[in-house]
Amino acid sequence: MVAKKIVTKSNFQDNLPRMQVKDIMQALEAFAPLTYQEGYDNSGLQVGNAGDEIKGVLLTLDVTEEVLQEALDRNCNMIVAHHPVIFSGLKRLTGRGYVERIVQKAIKNDLNIYAAHTNMDNARYGVNAKIALKLGLKGTAILSMMMDTLRKLYTFAPADAADKVREALFDAGAGDIGRYRECSFNTQGKGTFKPDADADPAIGQAGGPRELVDEVKIEVLVQKHKEAKVLKALFDSHPYEEVAYEFIALQNPNQELGAGLIGTLPQPMDETEFLKFLRDTMKTDCIRHTALRGKKIERVAVCGGSGSFLLKEAIGAGADIFITGDFKYHQFFDADGQTIIADIGHYESEQFTVELFEEILTEKFPNFAILLSNTSTNPVKYFC
Ligand SMILES: [Zn+2]
Repeated sequence: MVAKKIVTKSNFQDNLPRMQVKDIMQALEAFAPLTYQEGYDNSGLQVGNAGDEIKGVLLTLDVTEEVLQEALDRNCNMIVAHHPVIFSGLKRLTGRGYVERIVQKAIKNDLNIYAAHTNMDNARYGVNAKIALKLGLKGTAILSMMMDTLRKLYTFAPADAADKVREALFDAGAGDIGRYRECSFNTQGKGTFKPDADADPAIGQAGGPRELVDEVKIEVLVQKHKEAKVLKALFDSHPYEEVAYEFIALQNPNQELGAGLIGTLPQPMDETEFLKFLRDTMKTDCIRHTALRGKKIERVAVCGGSGSFLLKEAIGAGADIFITGDFKYHQFFDADGQTIIADIGHYESEQFTVELFEEILTEKFPNFAILLSNTSTNPVKYFC
């Protein structure tokens, strides 16, 4: 007699597919590709091995020694943080500072540490979109769009193969414009070619006469991080021995990538009413701000973290208030009556980024242990 296998919660868990560090990395990088991090940044896997099997993932804004201990206590062998713990390089590992102690302890305990920093800031639905959502902003747009991240691909396919080539390009991620997928432009025309004696043509003969073929010119937009995948799809799907194509860098700013965000409140609010709302929503004890202007607040600009570099863009976009962190004394003068600078604190402005990580990862891996850290890592304390 064959014993019936009893499915309990624990052996159900055992039957779940094994998760590796690289699965988590891929999910985060599909949302916020590493190639869009700023030049000074150090996002990506900082400690560990992409092939390690993971038991659980702990999500945090910063990696501190307390967070590391929390990960161990809660049976997580991977930490996903917004701020990279290794930022400017390490020359020795002797436990002299907290960064060295964290890295040593992580290695000793087979802990993986991963950071998604400015690539998550620059993603259209990343750090700033999360702040905008909390504040209820509508009609949001990026304040400072990234340049040199868009390409135009032109290719020429025989008419009877155009559908297949276009489909392959879409499958590889070409043709995205804002909220629209599979955008392309197609022109019918005639192509000519005359195969050399040593060619292996799909149409016509080696050393044969010039061919005149019905072809379709296909035009699609390609995001920089998809270049290699789209070109591979083109070569794999195109029937010609020599694929005719042009790949051109565009000057257009990328509306899907960049720093800061601006949007509109559903209803204009009085300035003090808005500041109270901001304090409560962003759970901050104190807002440092420039002089109120006696105007309603309607257009709101946000930048998680240190956003003073975006003040000009916020004013240019007509922001009634610019919410960020890390403003210095002299920089407050630059508001110059044209907007209100509201410094709510670096940590406070980015605290909801862990919720963003959680949403990205639980959508992809609904049955996996993805935990929010219970540790407040804010190094700044207020005495009010
Ligand atoms: Zn930050």
